[in-house]
Amino acid sequence: DNSDILLSVNNIEVVYNEYVLVLRGLSLDVERGSITALLGANGAGKSTTLKAISGLLKSEDGEITRGSITFDGRTISHQDPERTVREGIFQVMEGRRIIQDMTVLENLKLGAFTRSDKGIKDDIDLVYSYFPRLRERKGLAGYLSGGEQQMLAIGRAMMARPKLILMDEPSMGLSPLLVKEVFGIIKKLNEDFGVTILLVEQNAAMALNCAKHGYIMENGKIVLDGTAEELRENEDIKEFYLGGG
Ligand code: ATP
Repeated sequence: DNSDILLSVNNIEVVYNEYVLVLRGLSLDVERGSITALLGANGAGKSTTLKAISGLLKSEDGEITRGSITFDGRTISHQDPERTVREGIFQVMEGRRIIQDMTVLENLKLGAFTRSDKGIKDDIDLVYSYFPRLRERKGLAGYLSGGEQQMLAIGRAMMARPKLILMDEPSMGLSPLLVKEVFGIIKKLNEDFGVTILLVEQNAAMALNCAKHGYIMENGKIVLDGTAEELRENEDIKEFYLGGG
């Protein structure tokens, strides 16, 4: 499928534990090759949206009860998460869910679990060229600093060679300097490989700086969308998400 839209979420409803309605008719499109930001306050349902796409909802007793999700022209809602990874979607979880008691290298190899090609070794070098500090860390991932763990989580996603990376709050818990560095890397990944990125963030200013389009979520649905530039200029967004003025 060569359409400009790589991922399309159509009017989905998501329920946890059979009765807690969290997404209430959410729709969004992600353009092929772009960075798209999904913004909104705590609890709006951003993480739930990513898990609905990756299929990780099921492991938290969540379910898509209405609507559909298509990726590259195929319906992926209700699909097994491993199959979704094989088809090219990789989620970088909130708060760097790397495996603490494995080494950096073992974590990176895990990212490539769906691959059997000969390029894995080269891709490990590629990840190290993006994150030189990771190459020097020979010990367990649990001993890495917060920033290094976030980098490892992104590196692990690179190892899967996905078409679409779902990124959940990459800035969380990082110093302003590291936030800048991580966003620079996200942008570079997108430019170097054309990998499409759906970026969930509380840090709206940073996200709108690197994204092409943005969606604003409130209470389980999209309330506003536009180009990043339009959203940066929007008075309501300035007031509520960009810290006034
Ligand atoms: P945050 O930035 O705090 O993660 P968010 O916008 O990503 O916010 P979600 O994490 O998707 O929001 O949560 C949306 C709502 O769904 C919240 O009210 C939350 O309590 C609820 N929720 C999330 N996960 C579960 C779960 N496993 N079981 C029940 N309710 C859940």
